[in-house]
Amino acid sequence: MNHSAPVFYQDPYQKVLTTTVSSIQDQNVVLAETIFYPTGGGQPGDTGHINASNGSQFTITNTRKDRESGAIVHEVSEAPLDLQPGDTVTVTLDWSRRYAHMRMHTCMHLLCSLIPCGVTGGALTADKGRLDFDMGNFDANKELLTQQLNALIGQAEPISIECLEASLLDTNPELVRTMSVQPPRGAGKIRMVRAGATDYQPCGGTHVANTREIGPVRISKIENNGQRNKRVVIVFSNGEKQ
Ligand SMILES: [Zn+2]
Repeated sequence: MNHSAPVFYQDPYQKVLTTTVSSIQDQNVVLAETIFYPTGGGQPGDTGHINASNGSQFTITNTRKDRESGAIVHEVSEAPLDLQPGDTVTVTLDWSRRYAHMRMHTCMHLLCSLIPCGVTGGALTADKGRLDFDMGNFDANKELLTQQLNALIGQAEPISIECLEASLLDTNPELVRTMSVQPPRGAGKIRMVRAGATDYQPCGGTHVANTREIGPVRISKIENNGQRNKRVVIVFSNGEKQ
């Protein structure tokens, strides 16, 4: 079965897609393929619109993966009574929100490359991101990390993605940075993301193509989160003085 093939992996910059409806249940729509990223790995599900060929429009309020079927489900704000399986529709992403997620998500990879400790959690929104580290004795300094992050962003490094055999993770467990989340392994393959010189880890999120797209950022907070854990919060600094 081919439910909502994830076009966002082939091209995370595609903003509009014309496709067909696979199934509809109440306010949940599954498409033959999709550019909408489903909630996962700390990155929120995408929002946007579905336009039917008869002119009616529905708002997509969230995208998620169905636990049982694995299908990517688009949640719409009202039951789309006009739509039927097989109908041609055009979906449009709320691009400014998704692009902010891509920028912040990629920035969190760069932060990983600066803090040589296990990641115990993380999440992001269109405004900020947070990563929790099992920091031990590592001395994380807000100002220094802000400088280092912006330097990495300014180096304008490409982000590269490669697919490896999933069994590689069993023989190289050090590749997994996030201790609390097992990376997704689809069809025996694992998606590896390389960001900057040192960050290389499995990841199922969406990323920008080049670090320069992230723009200026600032570490707004480093706080204790339990005995050994520290929480690092990043915000876009949007031209504010650093
Ligand atoms: Zn990622």
